[in-house]
Parts: sequence; structure tokens; C-alpha cells
Amino acid sequence: MKTLILNDSTDIPVAGRIIRDGGLVAFPTETVYGLGASAYSDTAAKKIYAAKGRPSDNPLIVHICDAAKLCDVARDVSDAAKTVIDRFMPGPITVILKKKACIPDSVTGGLGTVGIRCPENPVAREFIRAAGVPVAAPSANISGKPSPTSARHVIDDMMGKIDAVIDGGDCTVGLESTIVDMTADIPVILRPGAVTYDMLKEVIPDILIDKNILDTVADNEAPKCPGTKYKHYSPDADVFVIEGEKEKVQVKIKELIKENAAKRVGVLFMYDAVYDDAVMLCAGRDNKEYAHNLFNALREFDRLGIELVFAEFSDDTGYGLAVKNRLYKAAGHKVIYV
Ligand code: AMP
Ligand code: MG
Repeated sequence: MKTLILNDSTDIPVAGRIIRDGGLVAFPTETVYGLGASAYSDTAAKKIYAAKGRPSDNPLIVHICDAAKLCDVARDVSDAAKTVIDRFMPGPITVILKKKACIPDSVTGGLGTVGIRCPENPVAREFIRAAGVPVAAPSANISGKPSPTSARHVIDDMMGKIDAVIDGGDCTVGLESTIVDMTADIPVILRPGAVTYDMLKEVIPDILIDKNILDTVADNEAPKCPGTKYKHYSPDADVFVIEGEKEKVQVKIKELIKENAAKRVGVLFMYDAVYDDAVMLCAGRDNKEYAHNLFNALREFDRLGIELVFAEFSDDTGYGLAVKNRLYKAAGHKVIYV
């Protein structure tokens, strides 16, 4: 298949037409690039799973161009859900609600609920508007790889497998949306993101955080957030998180670099570039910058042929919980606390 690379200002009608014709278009959002298909089409949704190599019980998120369109796809919207929607949509948040019958089972992985998101990115919204239907989309990466935060990442993973990619530059946030399950009596954060726990707590004081956010889910367990049981964000390199106070983290990483002198080592650093004999990439000075840089850095280490990555990490305040969630998964939960 020939993959078109589309301009984000002039080619949006072309992208909309591809969706209406049942094709696949990767598009920029403020979180990560999505791989979109018509949310009303069973066959189009199935193409997403095939292109990504994604397990069919891992649901897609339905993207709308305006929060008011939510009622087209969801039912039984509670007052708490309305509060969250009014406050945070459009923005980097996905709400889980009961689905309407127009959304096929292939989109929701067989669940009776649907994840709904209205992006803030104007290109994303114009694209969804041009499609004329809600757009079902997971992240536009090969299943298991770090999510794409630039058109280049999408091209690396998806060239020849999808109809088109809209090049809209780098994603501003860089991590996937916050997911909140609004179907339970007490809303639960299933995946942390740029809409943080503290922000949500301001409008829903009793909101909970799902315990699986920093754990692995056993194979035989049915997770609330289906995607969480699968291997995620895994670069080719073996990643270790080194967590703790700055000085102790730096001493530990220097030791580890010496012990692994035979390997090509990379360090994802937060503080200062103090390491010899390692390829160093900067994660940023705070958790917001870390969120923006993480997936690109993981892909960059692979491109450079790095075998072993030591990632500095300090605290889980603000964006930190989302960074920690993705970093721990990328590391397969290999964390050294110092
Ligand atoms: P991705 O954007 O690639 O992370 O994929 C979408 C993710 O949203 C899935 O992996 C799920 O974790 C989550 N999701 C989508 N729909 C639902 C739903 N109905 N219930 C729970 N989680 C969902
Ligand atoms: Mg994904």
C-alpha cells in the first residue's frame, strides 16, 4: 500500500475522504499521533488492529471534534461525567461511558463501554470534522513500541501499512491522554496523563486512582483498562529506572556504566550530563519536559543501537505519575531505588 504524507493545512479534506471511504489516517493530537478509522465501521476498525499488530480485545478511543458530539456515541452521562467534560474537554483526557449501539464491538474490544476524547489540537479537530464521523484511534505505533510523538515516528512504524499520515509536527504533551472511568459510582483514573490527579480532584473530590497504574497485571486477570495487560512502550534496548535523590542516582548510574563497559550504554538524564562512556539524552528538567521527551528518547536510543538504558527519575508529582507509569512499563518494571 502507498502511504500518502499529507500537509496539515491544505490536505485535510483528502484525509477526511479517506476515513469516509473506510481507510486509515494517522493524525497529530496534543498527546501522541493517533491511527484513525471511522468509528462507525467494523471493517475499518479491524484494519487498525491489523496495521498495528494489536490484540483485538484492546479497545480504541473514539475521537470527536466537539464535546457536544459525545451524545452521538455515549449514553447515561452522569452529572460527575458532565462536570469533567465541561472542565477538561477539549483536552488530553478520555472519559469512559456506556456506548451507544452505533459503535461496533470491534472498536470497544467487545466492551459495553466506550472511551471518548475530544482533542485540543486544531489539526486533529479539523480532520475529525472533515471525516464527518467520529474517528476511532489508538496510538499510531506498532503494538508494543513507544507511542509516536512526531510524523517521523509514524512513518518509521507504519509506512506501507496505512493510507496516509498528516504531518502536524511534534506533539506538545508527548504522553497519551488521562483515562477516567465515569461508569462506576466513584470515578477512577485508569491511566495518568496531562490532566493530573490533582486537577481532577478539584472537580471530583472522591476520585480514585486504579491500583494497576504502577503494577503489572497478571495474564489471567481481566484488567479494567484492557490495554494495561499488554507489553507497552518497549524499545529494543533493555531499560532500567534509577530512582531517588539526585546525588545517589548519579553515583549508582556511574557504577552501572562501569559494570556494563562491554555494552553500548545510554543514559536518559534529568539533572546534569555527568556521565562518561555513555550516550546521553536529556529527559528535561522537570516532569512536564520529561513527558514531552520520553518516547522520542526511547526511539532515539534504538536508532543509535543502544543495548542498555539507565533512566534517571525523581518524583511522581504533577505529570510525574504519568511519566512514571510509562517509564516503568518501558523498563518492564526493572526499577533500582537508591
Ligand atoms: P492507546 O491510545 O493506544 O493507548 O489505546 C487506547 C487505550 O484506551 C486502550 O489501550 C485502553 O487502555 C483504553 N480504553 C479505550 N476504551 C476503553 C474502555 N471502554 N474501557 C477501558 N479502557 C479503554
Ligand atoms: Mg497505544
